[in-house]
Amino acid sequence: MGNTLAFSPSPPPTPTAEPASTARPELVAGLAFLEASRERRWSPLGLCGWFDEHLVQTGVMMTPLVVSELSAGAVALHGTRMHDPDSQLTLTRIVTEARIRVITALRGLRGSPTDDRFLMAAIFTGRVRRTRLVGPNRWVVRPEPTATLSGIVISLFAADVLANRETYDRSLCICDACDRVTFDEDQAHRATCPAHRPSVSGFIRKVTLAPDQPTAESSSDAPSRPR
Ligand SMILES: [Zn+2]
Repeated sequence: MGNTLAFSPSPPPTPTAEPASTARPELVAGLAFLEASRERRWSPLGLCGWFDEHLVQTGVMMTPLVVSELSAGAVALHGTRMHDPDSQLTLTRIVTEARIRVITALRGLRGSPTDDRFLMAAIFTGRVRRTRLVGPNRWVVRPEPTATLSGIVISLFAADVLANRETYDRSLCICDACDRVTFDEDQAHRATCPAHRPSVSGFIRKVTLAPDQPTAESSSDAPSRPR
């Protein structure tokens, strides 16, 4: 454990239905979290790096002293004990639990009937606000420092959904095999990611799972970050 688990930022999947020039920092941040947590390689420094790049530098919030998840506990992101094996284990549980909660919230958008209560919850808690910074009004993310990790990530997606709801209704894809979140307007792909789509011959691509990895995909399918 420890430094060997340092987070190596991997590019989030490209929201293929979106123009490359679209500026959606909340979506980039949310997808970056989901992609990195899919690989289960987070260290306290790695998570601090994600906060710094996607939330501190964009003015959303400062890196919290502690990250938490309701059923997984809490762990400090600073201090001498943050590299303890126990802290690393707790952080892994927190990230895993947060990922499950975020995916569950997003799946609600694809449900029938649709469940988008996380949008109202994000507004009600003040984590997402409509405000005017520069130019027209827009949704901004303002989580409190004590928000759970899932609460922070869900608020990122909530802001993007509120500003781009039609994109989610039209092209949100969540893979039933690996929970990967992508965007594709082809209705046949709503429940599959590129790695788990049937091949042109009609056969499903065989995927080998590593013993410690509940989901696995061909790395050659990793698309680039949206710009
Ligand atoms: Zn998949």
